[in-house]
Amino acid sequence: MSLQNATPALFAFARYFTRPFCPHCGSEQMVPESSEFAGRGRVRHAWHCDDCGQDFCTDVELGNVTV
Ligand SMILES: [Zn+2]
Repeated sequence: MSLQNATPALFAFARYFTRPFCPHCGSEQMVPESSEFAGRGRVRHAWHCDDCGQDFCTDVELGNVTV
């Protein structure tokens, strides 16, 4: 299965349960510094890379949300 054929819900599931990679140095991140609800079923994780010291955020959809 390629990502192009994955449903949005499956893609969100994969993003929620896999750890992101630092966009600056490519180091795999372990635990988010903080998480907050971003509205409409979305959660925003704030990450701090221990390897290069950069901060970045990821948004995760918790499921199918009717807008
Ligand atoms: Zn980094």
